[in-house]
Amino acid sequence: MEEIKIHEFEFALINEFFTELERQGPGSPEETIRALNFIGNLSNKSKIADLGCGTGSQTMALAQNTEATITALDLYAGSIDKLNVTAKKLGLQNRVKGIVGSMDNLPFQNEEFDLIWSEGAIANIGFEKGLNHWKGFLKKDGYVAVTYESWFTDERPAEIEKWWMNAVPEISTIGHNISLMQKTGYIPVAAFTLPESCWIDNYFIPQKTRQEEFLKKYVGNKTVENMISFMRREADLYSRYKQYYGYVFYIGKKI
Ligand code: SAM
Repeated sequence: MEEIKIHEFEFALINEFFTELERQGPGSPEETIRALNFIGNLSNKSKIADLGCGTGSQTMALAQNTEATITALDLYAGSIDKLNVTAKKLGLQNRVKGIVGSMDNLPFQNEEFDLIWSEGAIANIGFEKGLNHWKGFLKKDGYVAVTYESWFTDERPAEIEKWWMNAVPEISTIGHNISLMQKTGYIPVAAFTLPESCWIDNYFIPQKTRQEEFLKKYVGNKTVENMISFMRREADLYSRYKQYYGYVFYIGKKI
């Protein structure tokens, strides 16, 4: 049977589902801070862009652990509204601004940023394409830090291979992705895998109640039923095949 692609579900429905949740992808504040610790020389003059920021869980972690000014960008206006409300609640509105835009057509100046951040989002435009495009907006010696779906092993069972080739056709091994980072003009500084808790506790478990709510709200809606079964299958596959893949944080410094 043909697998359905997540991108084939209505963008608005996916976003309505996820904006109520703390995160829209696997991750945690601890891992955001771990990645931040590889990046030197940030001050109150520094500028950070957070691309594909969603509702801004990692944006707030960045703001609370640096003195930098942060522009957070996402395609979905509902997420940006929520991010700006959270920034205000936390008293961060002077340093954190959410804007609507697309990460493959950034509305920024050349060499504007000291750091470009992106958790769980670069696959939407492609790892190599994203790293190439974003480099122009980084100052010399600026950093990029992204999480990206990656294979942990050279080989894996056909079922999980097929799922990921369908979802992220460019998915590759950590070694290959590090070489792409080098090829696109960055010195690879660090790469580390996100722990399972980032997927299970922060991504799959919070989805469960929301799935029930959604099925009740959209009773009989086939698109919603398919979307929820896609999410449940994603969680089931992770529990069976998590030794073969996961998110990896890649940190590089622009040459
Ligand atoms: N960074 C957040 C997190 O880790 O919780 C969100 C990750 S979510 C898996 C991916 C995000 O990328 C979504 O918020 C989606 O709206 C956004 N997105 C998808 N395509 C995009 C594009 N072309 N430009 C900007 N954002 C995009």
